[in-house]
Amino acid sequence: MNINHCRISSFQSLGTVDGPGVRAVVFMQGCPLRCSCCHNPETWDINGGSLINSEELFHKILRCKSYFGSKGGVTFSGGEPLLQSEFLASFLPALKEEDIHVAIDTSGCILNDKAKEVIALSDLILLDYKYTDPKAYKEYTGMDLSKADEFLSYLNSVNKPTWLRQVIIPTINDSKESVSTLYSLKEKYACIEKIELLPFRKLCIEKYHALNIDFPFKDIREATKDDIDSLKKIASFYGCAP
Ligand code: SF4
Repeated sequence: MNINHCRISSFQSLGTVDGPGVRAVVFMQGCPLRCSCCHNPETWDINGGSLINSEELFHKILRCKSYFGSKGGVTFSGGEPLLQSEFLASFLPALKEEDIHVAIDTSGCILNDKAKEVIALSDLILLDYKYTDPKAYKEYTGMDLSKADEFLSYLNSVNKPTWLRQVIIPTINDSKESVSTLYSLKEKYACIEKIELLPFRKLCIEKYHALNIDFPFKDIREATKDDIDSLKKIASFYGCAP
């Protein structure tokens, strides 16, 4: 992997759902997981997307800086941004010099020395903690839940501000027991600042058609606002903001 270039799938100038405030979102290319609920299958192939050099990316981000306000910044999402940790470890110091808040949106599947450098250079980790049940985790992501737990333990050991995020998928992980287990993680890991429940959506179905890939969750209904609101009520039992 090059430290002067990275591969990105797309660049969003004014995102509001991937971390605090208004953010530039860099969707990095490449992901070792194959989540059944994935919204961005076009990011999977590490050789796909397009190459961008560090100066070009830096200037794209700087052009958005005036919109960030006091809370916003840049989020590296994907795909799996830590797959390109070598690039990020060399790129993030320039953003820190500009006092730009940096968040990394990750599944927690990579925890090597370079990934640890990236974590150290970031202000916030958005950890997509996809399922609390080990069997479901393995079945619907291809990865072991223990890897996400190991990643979370590491974030806790270095006191890294962390938001846990979970896409709520009807009939798969929307039981009260499952969501209670998710919220209970806050009691164990002091680094968790916030737990977000995100509704399962199927807007990505066209992307699957275009790529000629089957969308495994095509027959599952989308989650409604009511589904999410009723599950969020569990939060207060665990000292979490709903
Ligand atoms: S980790 Fe994210 S990008 Fe990778 S397959 Fe899962 S949902 Fe898709």
